[in-house]
Amino acid sequence: MHYEKIFEEIFHELQLTEDKGKVAEYIPELASVDPNQFGVHLTTVEGAGFSFGDAQTQFSIQSIAKVLSFVMAYGRLKSEIWERTNLEPAGTPFNSLLQLEIDMGIPRNPFINAGAIVICDILVSQLADPKEEVLAFVRRLSGNSSIHYNPRVARSEKDSGSRNYAMIYLMKSFGNIDNEIETVMDLYFHLCSLEMSCEELATTFLFLANNGVVPWSDERILSPSRTKRTNALMQTCGFYDEAGQFTFKVGLPGKSGVGGGIVAVHPGKYTIAVWSPPLNSKGNSYRGMLFLEQFTTVTRLSIF
Ligand code: GLU
Repeated sequence: MHYEKIFEEIFHELQLTEDKGKVAEYIPELASVDPNQFGVHLTTVEGAGFSFGDAQTQFSIQSIAKVLSFVMAYGRLKSEIWERTNLEPAGTPFNSLLQLEIDMGIPRNPFINAGAIVICDILVSQLADPKEEVLAFVRRLSGNSSIHYNPRVARSEKDSGSRNYAMIYLMKSFGNIDNEIETVMDLYFHLCSLEMSCEELATTFLFLANNGVVPWSDERILSPSRTKRTNALMQTCGFYDEAGQFTFKVGLPGKSGVGGGIVAVHPGKYTIAVWSPPLNSKGNSYRGMLFLEQFTTVTRLSIF
């Protein structure tokens, strides 16, 4: 398959239509990103890589990192994790407080903000040096020791983090937070500030296409069963309250972030990461979704 040619054709086709997305503005550091950047990278489980556009430019991966922190906690806690977070699609925006009150402080799933904050609380309880150990884990998955947090973005998240603070206080009132609020939020804000390029992102998620094993290092990260479950969670909960649309149109498990990145996994075959900063009204990359819809339609490489 001539992936690079397919990428180029889809990109040019998308250029003919208006980009109706808007760059995230509620975090000031994200608002200053050039909206015209666009990158895509596909990696096969055999290790072949295909890029187009700004595929090597690093961007803020934001909520995509929630899958990585979840995997780290899941590997340690196993099924006890489901006492702290549910595993159902949210049906409300990623930063909604509404459902959290009704569900007595148990987040709908680990990929919305409240769920990721609970996962950070679990990691703070489990790890001696959570920020460093999470970063080391992500570096191992990516095979890249230069992956870093962006301190400016982490600071900007904290300064504009009132809703996230509201969530953690609400969950604490229901007894679902064990640690100091500031320690947990510091880990959460840093997690959101991780930066990667499309190439690095596709590479980092490859273990989820390979039964839980990092292909080049042979390190097992999750059992095949927990890998299946993580992919299933991405399928049902990876796109805020647009997971149904993404499944319908693209047909791959994946995760998006408000930095405009999307990563998707075809178990047994490949991972693909696309980046286009302007977001649709649900917080997913406007062009990124359209691109992946075209890609799986043209190549017939969806899981359905
Ligand atoms: N850092 C963002 C927040 O906490 C993450 C949102 C996202 O990418 O979904 O609001």
